[in-house]
Amino acid sequence: MTKISQKAFGMTPDKKDIVLFTLWNGGGMKVEIINIGAAVVSLTVPDKDKRPTDVALGFSSGKEYVTNKPYFGAVVGRFANRIKNGEFKLDGKTYRLEKNDGNHHLHGGNGGYAKKPWDYSINADNTLTFALASPDGDEGYPGDLKIRVTYELKDDNSLTLRYEAETKSKTICNLTNHCYFNLNGCGSQTTVLNHIMRINADEITDADAELIPTGKFTGVSGTPFDFRSEKAIGKDISGDNPLIKAAGGYDHNYVLNPGAPFAARVYSPETGIVMEVETDRPGMQFYTGNFLDGSVTGKNGIRHEKQSGFCLETQFYPDTPNRPEFPSCVITPDKPLKTFTTYKFSVR
Ligand code: BGC
Repeated sequence: MTKISQKAFGMTPDKKDIVLFTLWNGGGMKVEIINIGAAVVSLTVPDKDKRPTDVALGFSSGKEYVTNKPYFGAVVGRFANRIKNGEFKLDGKTYRLEKNDGNHHLHGGNGGYAKKPWDYSINADNTLTFALASPDGDEGYPGDLKIRVTYELKDDNSLTLRYEAETKSKTICNLTNHCYFNLNGCGSQTTVLNHIMRINADEITDADAELIPTGKFTGVSGTPFDFRSEKAIGKDISGDNPLIKAAGGYDHNYVLNPGAPFAARVYSPETGIVMEVETDRPGMQFYTGNFLDGSVTGKNGIRHEKQSGFCLETQFYPDTPNRPEFPSCVITPDKPLKTFTTYKFSVR
């Protein structure tokens, strides 16, 4: 049976309360979540010898989540991932967004949901809901939106995020969680290159050197992107593949095979910790923390170096608003967004 407690965790520069929630279950798992960005701060699971191991990268103080450059643990929106040239058209009208990633828009802009204080409530069934109002024009996006993200920790060591978004008028929405995992332990000061990965996807969306989809789909067969059978993350990461070279590692959207029992399964041979990801989303950005460069100091004073964490960002495909051939991210008052992702932990 899951229990939840809460404590004050500092204040934002504009004097809003920062609150840290702790969820415990009967399976030896503990999750800390903060109201800034509804972000996961830590995720402690038993390893193969039952040692509690924190597998999520995060910061030690609340106020660091207000800037959170790498998006540690945060819920990202209104549109997770990139929108080409920072603009899109909806019903013939062009909307211009902040260009916060070179010439492109990334993760909803610098004022996006990841850095905002969310409202919160602990529910009678011991789930935790974060809520955010995103008015018409917020960061340039149309439509008055109400978002809710509910975290549910179960005794089987699964953590489910349920995302809901309701709008007063037609708009676009793509929410994800940007947790960086290191199943060797976030304090291990190791990279994730030893992790064994499986991804149930036959294709990725092809991208240019700025990680913008070209509209083509590339089969993973015979490429470093093939994780349909278990393979170490580091095995093909330093080869000559131009897509991998441009991104400095994996930073690509997988087209998830519909109906597969899970989207991805990852395993650390060091701790024996296994994480399985299940979702109803069509895509998943597999990012190997290539832009971490030691300049960010996380919990316990650890400087996070390149590839010391990986993200599995379940989502619509990047640049979907400009790609009518991709599954649509448009929502309307009659068609709200309702989606889930589950991270389930076990040992091998
Ligand atoms: C992107 C990366 C980016 C990271 C942090 C990922 O979703 O694909 O390119 O560096 O987020 O913003």
